Amino acid sequence: MKPPGFESWGRFPKAEPAAVLPIFWRSDRPFQMAPPPFLPFGMGRSYGDSCLNGGATLLATRHLDRFLAMDEARQLVTCEAGVTLGEILEQVVPRGLFLPVVPGTKHVSVGGAIANDVHGKNHHRAGTFGAHVASLELLRSDGSRLTCSRTERPELFAATIGGLGLTGVILSASIRLQSIGPGVEHVQSETVPVRALDELLALVRESDGDHEFTVAWIDCLATGTRVGRGLLHRGNWAAAPRPSSPRQAPRLSVPMEFPVSPLNRFTLSAFNCLYRAKGRVTGGPRFVHHDSFFFPLDRIGHWNRIYGTAGLLQFQCAVPHVSASSAIRQMLGAIAAAGEGSFLAVLKDFGSVGSPGMLSFPREGVTLALDFPNKGDRTAGLFRKLHAMVAAHGGRLYPAKDAHMSAEQFRMQFGDVLPRFRAQIDPAFSSSFWRRVQQ
Ligand SMILES: Cc1cc2nc3c(=O)[nH]c(=O)nc-3n(C[C@H](O)[C@H](O)[C@H](O)COP(=O)(O)OP(=O)(O)OC[C@H]3O[C@@H](n4cnc5c(N)ncnc54)[C@H](O)[C@@H]3O)c2cc1C
Repeated sequence: MKPPGFESWGRFPKAEPAAVLPIFWRSDRPFQMAPPPFLPFGMGRSYGDSCLNGGATLLATRHLDRFLAMDEARQLVTCEAGVTLGEILEQVVPRGLFLPVVPGTKHVSVGGAIANDVHGKNHHRAGTFGAHVASLELLRSDGSRLTCSRTERPELFAATIGGLGLTGVILSASIRLQSIGPGVEHVQSETVPVRALDELLALVRESDGDHEFTVAWIDCLATGTRVGRGLLHRGNWAAAPRPSSPRQAPRLSVPMEFPVSPLNRFTLSAFNCLYRAKGRVTGGPRFVHHDSFFFPLDRIGHWNRIYGTAGLLQFQCAVPHVSASSAIRQMLGAIAAAGEGSFLAVLKDFGSVGSPGMLSFPREGVTLALDFPNKGDRTAGLFRKLHAMVAAHGGRLYPAKDAHMSAEQFRMQFGDVLPRFRAQIDPAFSSSFWRRVQQ
């Protein structure tokens, strides 16, 4: 009944479900087989507890893995919600099509991508994943199967996109695709070294104008005038197929969990030096296979095990453009003062395309994401400081990554839409995250 492995990517907090019920068919009605509350579980690529339901029932959707329709003329794919974005790309890239929005891993399910309304490196052009969902089919705990779109049950549709799995089980969805051209598999990419934060922020926005994809890596150990130094990666789809196709390097995997994380200031400092040097050497324009460009971390399976048994926490915030410089400077200062650092300190621009979901995270501004090994109270204390800075600058936190947001912060962030959202929640659904932020 309860197979192992139903944990989040950060492996913190630990919240064991009492039962896990797999859904195999869209006609399944699992609700009599275990007690509520229920929560759908996709690929478990959320970091915190939004995909967890401690002491209650998870509805595992991975077996909903069928493609239902492919309309090439209308560039529309319809599939069940357990299909992963990687599986969609395998089908559509040979047809000259691509998903309009992909996050930093392709191992996420369609249901999970919708329920967190995920974003990619092209938010300034394409907005979020949910903006490209033409319609979806939702299973409610009363057994009803409801079709939702912008025109059919629009309130339930807007609550389900970014709805954290609380409105029911998404069974299937129709997603609009983007044309990249026949045979195209590569992105023409360039890496630009940047010396300091304001230069980085200016260059990201300038690059948004003529690049479909922009993302920056920050060396979070840099201090003083060098705060915010890093590398800006930017790119556009290649205009034509490339003759040679250097595909993603062979996949490695971390075979076991490290009892104690080997990641510390020394390894971090060495990594940052090497990464910056590599960026300077390989910086010029070059063609990169889409797998390497969009999903570099997928090259190492189970990389979260490197963080040891205590797990990792990701902090991701978005702050308005007007306060981005001071907010990010302050946050990087607090991280350095706490003696912490992150291998993955990623900065992206959020453009003005509106998010379709009531609880969607992206708002116009700059988003910063960092990973930290979980050191218990010490990490929790740092997160409290960072959260206060985000709130003071009118920013927000990403529920898909969060493990520490307080109920007060959640209300501050989403208070204006909460009554509308609550009206659409399935009464038999809940999650560890939801119970935490509703206290
Ligand atoms: C390496 C890495 C890089 C990432 N990069 C990004 C990024 O660039 N941008 C970004 O936005 N996110 C990013 N993420 C986060 C990830 O994209 C999201 O957390 C995504 O939602 C995970 O999908 P999943 O299938 O694993 O869903 P899960 O983590 O299993 O679940 C996520 C939520 O979706 C709900 N859910 C799942 N399936 C269904 C369903 N069928 N019906 C209704 N609700 C459902 C769950 O209840 C839960 O609330 C990254 C994660 C990793 C590990």
